[in-house]
Amino acid sequence: MAQKDMTRELIDLHIHVGGAVAPHILWAIAHQQGFKLPVKSYFEFVDLITASPDKVASLDEYLKIMHTWTEKIQSSPMAIERSVYEVIGKEYRSSRVTQIELRFNPMKRNLHSELDLDHIIHAAIRGMDQAMLEYGVKACLIFCLAREFDHKLNSIIVDKAIKYRHRGVLGIDLAGTESHALELKPEVVAQYEDLFERARKAGLKATVHTGETRGTGAEGVIAVIEKLKPQRIGHGIRAAYDEAAMKLLKERDVVLEICPTSNLQTKAVEGIKELEHIIRTFWDRGVKVTINTDGPYLLNTDMRREIEIVESNRILTAEQIDQTLAWAREYSFIRRS
Ligand SMILES: [Zn+2]
Repeated sequence: MAQKDMTRELIDLHIHVGGAVAPHILWAIAHQQGFKLPVKSYFEFVDLITASPDKVASLDEYLKIMHTWTEKIQSSPMAIERSVYEVIGKEYRSSRVTQIELRFNPMKRNLHSELDLDHIIHAAIRGMDQAMLEYGVKACLIFCLAREFDHKLNSIIVDKAIKYRHRGVLGIDLAGTESHALELKPEVVAQYEDLFERARKAGLKATVHTGETRGTGAEGVIAVIEKLKPQRIGHGIRAAYDEAAMKLLKERDVVLEICPTSNLQTKAVEGIKELEHIIRTFWDRGVKVTINTDGPYLLNTDMRREIEIVESNRILTAEQIDQTLAWAREYSFIRRS
C-alpha cells in the first residue's frame, strides 16, 4: 500500500506556512536572527511548537501555537524565504507532492508593520521559485485574510495579492478562529463580500476556511458560498450534517479541502468514525473532496500519511482516492500547462 502511495504524484491544496516548517529549520532561523526563545534545549523547542494531543484540544489552541511562535519566527524576509523554500522541498521529498498551494498571511510576518510587506512577499516568492527550480514541482501562494483583522487590514492583503498575481500569488483565503460562532451570521460574512469581489475581478481565485469546528453548523458554509463565491472551501465538514449545504456545494461546484489529521487533532471531529461518516456522506451526495495536510509539522503528518489514513481506514477506496487527486489537480488554482 505504501509503495503504491509513493508512485502517486500527490497534490496539497491546503497547507499553511505557519504549520509546515520543520522544527530544526525554525530552530536554526530563530538562532540566526537572535530570536529570544523561552526554552533552552532543542527538544523543549520541538515540544513548544508541536500540537501534541495532550496539549491541543481545540482549533484555537492549535492556532495559538502558530501565532505565538512559528509565525513570529518566520517574520523576516530571510525567514519567510527559507520557510517557503523548505516546505515545498520537504513535501516533495517526503511524499512526492508535485503540486502545492502554500498559504500564509503576509501581515502576520511583518512584525506589526515594522517590516515592509513587499520585502516579505518578494522573499516568499524567491523561496518558492528556488524550490520549484530545484525539485521541478509546481507551486503557488495564497494570501490569507484574517477574521481577527479589520476590513482595512484585510483590504491591504487583497491589494498585495492583486499586485503579485502574475508572480505566483494565485488566490486569497479567509482564516482564523471560528470561536464565538461569528461566521454563522450572514451579515458577518457579508463584510468580506467586496474584498472577495475585488480579488475575483482581478482574476484571483478564492478559498475560505469555514464549517470546521463543532458547534458552528452549516450556516457559515452556505453564507460563504453565496456571498464570497469561492472555488473551494477549507474543511467545510459541518456541511455533511446539512442537506441544503451539500446541495449548494454540488450546484455551485465548490470543492472541499479536507484535512484529516488536523480535524482529528483539533477535535473538529470526534474520531476516525466521524471523519469516515463525513467523507462518505460528501461522496454519496456528489460533493467533491480533496485530501490535504493543513500543517504537517505542527500536526506531525505529511501528504502520504493523510492519504494512508483515508485508505487504511477504508474511508475511501484506492480508486476514489485517485479521483480526489484528480479533482485536486482540476480545481487547483495553478493552471494546467
Ligand atoms: Zn487551514
